[in-house]
Amino acid sequence: MKRGSNMPAVGTYNQTLVLDMIRRSPSGLSRIELAELTGLSAQTLSNVARKLSLAGLILEGDRVVSGPGKPRTMLQLNRRARFAVGIHLDPSIDTFVVVDLSGSIVAHIEAPPEDTDATPDLIAGLAASAHALLRSADVPFDRVLGIGAALPGPIDDAAGMVLTPPLLPNWHHTRVRDLLIESTELPVVVEKDVIAAMVGELWADADHALRDAALLYYGAGVGLGIAHDGDAVRGRTGNAGDIGHLIVDPSGPPCQCGMRGCLGVTVAPERLLFDAGITDSLETPWGAVPAGLDELRTRAQGGDARALAVCARAAESLARAIVLVNNMLDTGTVVIGGPAWSRLSELLEPPLRAALPTIPQITTTRPLRLVEARLGTDLAAAGAACLVLDSMFTARASDLMISAS
Ligand SMILES: [Zn+2]
Repeated sequence: MKRGSNMPAVGTYNQTLVLDMIRRSPSGLSRIELAELTGLSAQTLSNVARKLSLAGLILEGDRVVSGPGKPRTMLQLNRRARFAVGIHLDPSIDTFVVVDLSGSIVAHIEAPPEDTDATPDLIAGLAASAHALLRSADVPFDRVLGIGAALPGPIDDAAGMVLTPPLLPNWHHTRVRDLLIESTELPVVVEKDVIAAMVGELWADADHALRDAALLYYGAGVGLGIAHDGDAVRGRTGNAGDIGHLIVDPSGPPCQCGMRGCLGVTVAPERLLFDAGITDSLETPWGAVPAGLDELRTRAQGGDARALAVCARAAESLARAIVLVNNMLDTGTVVIGGPAWSRLSELLEPPLRAALPTIPQITTTRPLRLVEARLGTDLAAAGAACLVLDSMFTARASDLMISAS
């Protein structure tokens, strides 16, 4: 079964293929270049380009002279032809973004989560924030393709439902997809947050550098996104990437699973704040975590020994997790991002890079490539919006096969 089946299909395989190549080329591509890249005949390509142009998805750009012969007209993405909304549900802050067709964020708001477990109020709150954001961004409603929602796992992807994420008790067993469709009258896709983040990074992966990559998401929780051959790996149930119980520090803090030093508890923001002496309990209210992390950064940058030691230990734990993940997947490239990472990256990145080759378990034959997430703090929300674009506009060979169902 093809995913995103509640999304209307856009164009034929050839149209999505050509659009895919144009959008990954910031300066555009000429018809001749496109014919070479796709193997399509000049006539077919001309027809495809005309249809994309009529749909308003591409624009005729500059005429470029290169060598002898006629100047070439560059075909470029019409970035403002379509938009998508992304929502990320998180214990400390809900994030809403609008992205254009290039996957760039054109509007963003954050709102504290609704303090209620009444499902209608929760859904109405999301719909109201999404509509307010679209109005403030001056986006024509008829160009909005849909809404993507990034949810903490575990989810039931077939039902579009949040299951029982420990950090989000108000949302347990909520059918987010169907309720949001009813409330907004827009198509809606849902995805586990780290998988959405991976899709978002892949959407604008201009030179296919992330075709095989891992993404370490570091926010209220940690999770792993995986890309294989240019597609995000979802797993059997849409819950791939749970690395919370990867043991990174055998002498580390106890985990509810009964072991010590699992990644999730070892680098949990509330643990860092407690160990640095910024809070006096591990029960930090979620709303206070971002300011706490800012305080941790300020103290470490000011030379506070305890804060620096906490950051060094967190960096080593993350490095060990990255090594273990790469030993399993051999992706070679690791993207790292998320709200906690964004607040601490200046402090964590240098020791993390330094620690990678020193981790005894490392087996890679080439140096690991560590890259910052393009979408920064917003990567789960923007990734969720890119899910909508991806389900409508990404050319996949599997789309050419006739479905048996
Ligand atoms: Zn554990």
